[in-house]
Amino acid sequence: MATAWPTAQVKPPMRDHGFHQLRIARVVSETADTRSFVLEVPPELAAAFAYEAGQFCTFRVPIDDQQHFRSYSMSSTPAVDTELQVTVKRVPGGVVSNWMIDTLAPGDVIETSCPAGVFCLGPDDGDVVAFAAGSGITPVFSIVKAALASTSRRVRVLYANRDRDSIIFAAALERLGERHPGRLAVAHHLDVEEGFVDADVVGPFISTGADAEYFICGPAPFMDLVEGALVDRHVDERRVHVERFTPPEPIPQPEPENVEASGSRVTIELGGRTDGVDHHPGTTILQTARQMGMTPPSSCESGSCATCMARLVEGAVTMHVNDALTDDEVEEGWVLTCQAVPTTSSVRVRYEGV
Ligand SMILES: Cc1cc2nc3c(=O)[nH]c(=O)nc-3n(C[C@H](O)[C@H](O)[C@H](O)COP(=O)(O)OP(=O)(O)OC[C@H]3O[C@@H](n4cnc5c(N)ncnc54)[C@H](O)[C@@H]3O)c2cc1C
Repeated sequence: MATAWPTAQVKPPMRDHGFHQLRIARVVSETADTRSFVLEVPPELAAAFAYEAGQFCTFRVPIDDQQHFRSYSMSSTPAVDTELQVTVKRVPGGVVSNWMIDTLAPGDVIETSCPAGVFCLGPDDGDVVAFAAGSGITPVFSIVKAALASTSRRVRVLYANRDRDSIIFAAALERLGERHPGRLAVAHHLDVEEGFVDADVVGPFISTGADAEYFICGPAPFMDLVEGALVDRHVDERRVHVERFTPPEPIPQPEPENVEASGSRVTIELGGRTDGVDHHPGTTILQTARQMGMTPPSSCESGSCATCMARLVEGAVTMHVNDALTDDEVEEGWVLTCQAVPTTSSVRVRYEGV
């Protein structure tokens, strides 16, 4: 009998930051514009690919001689599913989502980082309340399965979609409800029938119990609305988890002619090259590397995906946003370079595994 996938409970001392080639075992058609990709993880990579429900992998995809980095959340759940699976929905005009859906077939090999992310269940036992829209159901589906299988928590999901045909995992969610009577309530909201979700729709889902834990994932306006409703009801922000698929606001890149040096010296090591430069105020480490002509890995540029993570080997930085690194990783010296700015006169950063 196949054994369930290991959970990332025992963390390796350092995250494997490299990219690995995984073979696609199966492609599952979920809806007209959504596919799941089941990935084969060889035994020697099983420990590195241990994950928690709600985490994601970042794929490195070469298209037309250019490398693109995109993150996709696991729709599978460790301790429940025997295989690792991600689910990709087409974004109109999107480079990578369309390429994956139109091109990838069983037997193909794709490059991916190891699982990362902090959009995961906490240790408490209060209700789990999730707000998902469109492809935002992917990590939520993983979390819901984990909560039902590994805890006794009750789970409520508000799941918004354009119309009935665009509901991903509709049948699987129904089956889960039947298998866990009284513990899972899924409310579908269809824009074509009821208009966009508003605060009146969200309100009844906000638990009065102070120990409820909230998860939000979907398009930016949906997420903003739900977050606003939770703030209005004074929900403790530490109980609210958000996973943004699109950056809220990119950090503006200062114009080179308008910036003074800040007094900090930034040294960056990447792929056998080491270079130093005087730091420009407001410029992130990632932007500084690019100013030096380096091309470090990066993807979301909003502190969510960890593709740009590097080791701080000297000095100190502050991160505007960190929605991707665990406390342990920060303790070990990892930083999200898309969010990190120096706070000491000398900073040295090393990109590892690239
Ligand atoms: C942590 C994380 C986890 C993610 N998990 C998933 C997942 O499980 N499933 C999934 O399908 N996607 C997921 N995404 C989004 C995914 O990484 C890509 O951003 C998305 O597939 C679009 O990439 P693209 O190359 O097709 O589009 P691009 O060529 O990058 O973008 C084309 C246009 O679409 C806009 N856009 C980009 N992403 C979106 C979006 N999600 N919705 C609407 N417009 C968008 C861009 O601003 C741009 O204008 C996740 C993102 C992050 C950061």
